Amino acid sequence: MIRMMARYFTLALAILALGLPCLLHAQQPPIKITADLSEAPRKLYHAEVDIPVKPGPISLITPKWIPGNHRPTGPVEDITGVVFSVDGPNGHQVLPWRRDNVEMYEYHVTVPAGVAMLHAHLDCIVTARVTQKMAVLEWQKLLLYPADIPVKDIPIQPSVTVPAGWGIGTALTPIGTGGAAVPDTGVDEADHETTPGATTTHYAATTVEQLEDSPVITGQYFHEFPLAPEVTPKHYIDVVSDEPEDWNLRPQLLAEISNLVRETGAAYDSRHYCVYHFLLTLSDVAGGEGLEHGQSSDNGVGEKAFASQSNQLLDSDLLAHEFTHSWNGKYRRPARLYQPTFETPEQTDLVWVYEGMTQYLGNVLAARSGFKSQADYRGLLAMSAAQMAYKSGRDWRSTEDTAIAASVLREDGPEWANWRRGQDYYQEGELVWLDADTLIRQKTKDKKSLTDFLHIFLGKGGNTGPLIVPYEFPEIVADLNQVLPYDWATFFQDRIDNINPKADLDGIERGGYKLVYTDKQSTTEKAVYNSPVYRRYRGAGDVWYSLGLRINGAGTISDVRWGGPADDAKLHPGQKILAVDGIVFSADALKAAIKKAKNSSEPIRFILQADTFVTLADINYHGGEKYPSLVRVEGTPDYLDDITKPLTKPDPASLKSDTTGDED
Ligand SMILES: [Zn+2]
Repeated sequence: MIRMMARYFTLALAILALGLPCLLHAQQPPIKITADLSEAPRKLYHAEVDIPVKPGPISLITPKWIPGNHRPTGPVEDITGVVFSVDGPNGHQVLPWRRDNVEMYEYHVTVPAGVAMLHAHLDCIVTARVTQKMAVLEWQKLLLYPADIPVKDIPIQPSVTVPAGWGIGTALTPIGTGGAAVPDTGVDEADHETTPGATTTHYAATTVEQLEDSPVITGQYFHEFPLAPEVTPKHYIDVVSDEPEDWNLRPQLLAEISNLVRETGAAYDSRHYCVYHFLLTLSDVAGGEGLEHGQSSDNGVGEKAFASQSNQLLDSDLLAHEFTHSWNGKYRRPARLYQPTFETPEQTDLVWVYEGMTQYLGNVLAARSGFKSQADYRGLLAMSAAQMAYKSGRDWRSTEDTAIAASVLREDGPEWANWRRGQDYYQEGELVWLDADTLIRQKTKDKKSLTDFLHIFLGKGGNTGPLIVPYEFPEIVADLNQVLPYDWATFFQDRIDNINPKADLDGIERGGYKLVYTDKQSTTEKAVYNSPVYRRYRGAGDVWYSLGLRINGAGTISDVRWGGPADDAKLHPGQKILAVDGIVFSADALKAAIKKAKNSSEPIRFILQADTFVTLADINYHGGEKYPSLVRVEGTPDYLDDITKPLTKPDPASLKSDTTGDED
């Protein structure tokens, strides 16, 4: 694409010293942006942006590749009402603009002579993560800044307007609260002002890179809880909920989150932020999010997702996973994933480290912190490992290819998903890093573990502010070799780069367990299948390892396991099961048919509807029900339990179950 040189001052930003990166001195005046969320319940956000400029042509751009999304998800199609104007020698003047013919995120404007400040107004239509009672601001919805300048070099001073009475959670530093030196902001000492129906809070200047990494949650029912008070820097969890009773988190959960803060200190031996805010939205409408940031994480779950220990099982690793990304993904980032501008495509081949190792550590730290029991850790690991073991697409596609293609695999549907193979770099990565951890433990006779590698790799440079330190694969190999001299390059090549039809179960087996399939669901799997979220999507129990079918709550087949019994009988995704063995379809009828066929030579008979046609199919399967679980191999070291033991002293409140009393 054609890019004009931005007529914008190159801005010299001085980060005072590595030890004090929280203080930012911009030597040029910053962009000023006011994000107005006062109409959030109407699904509209607004922004006023003042951009220092020089006369002549300028290109302005909104973010395209969103860090952590691993794909170009900037909502350019929803950005509306764009008006550029100036107040110059000829008074107030609205300027014409033209979108770039190739880069849809870029606007071209010509600044008249004698003008030093360009004003932009824009709106964004926001339909997700917003309800009548809460809103989440991801800055790509409103950010506008000069193109072609590294986003880490563009200073910007944000303000946020919310409906009166709504609280705000963010890692941004309010002006006047100390901790940030802000010359040239032009904002008075007061950190916020109130107009009828709305309150505006001003924040210290930062960079476009850091602002994009600093989301805001706001809501009528808001509360901020401090965590692990003895740990520096400070940690908080900010909660907004749709219902007034939900923001008040259980004492046990708060203790678990404080445990997590302490456990990360022991596991990663460093911190790379000036403050950390867990941002949590509890809503059945605005849920379904987990996005990492350097100094915060955006966690969106259902209203009651954390209301009890059993409810939180499905999301038990969410906070630990997104928090771990502050080290693995944000501080240490694959070099080609980290680009100087948000319009440069990210190269994602190393997300099996970024996401895969975080998947492993998130689950491990969730167990160490008490979000789930060691037994549930093993139960969930069994379910995940079985999925990888029965992922037929691994016959044609490597795990590395799922990483390279991450940006095109995020929106894939369930139909033939096992043959496509989706974002397996998460779960396969988890197995590979468990393999590495147990290998280090075994070969060093328990003197070392992956934790020693994490101290080196994630702790490089000691404690810092929110910096980004890129790496390439050879650094991983070199740091692992410091812990255990081994052919790590070949280790990862065999498991990640090469096509490998077998899932990596070595870590589980070296860890003292074996993955087996029996006719009994584990306690963990039962709890998962009984959870409200799961029932909504699946509903028909798990017949994946027996018949080779995934069936949603309405009885419609969403996936057929390639090479499985249902595939042999030519069933296909999209068919609705009307009847099984002469009985109207239900999860119980299906289970009964599988049981009956185990002691019979008769096939299981299906009546199926596809589009407007009805067909018959017989599945010749006699293996009975099959569910994955881990069984202990006696006489071997129990590394899985060693790995999930806390490294720090747990908060007593996390050890006893509170009001809901449903922990086993
Ligand atoms: Zn992640």
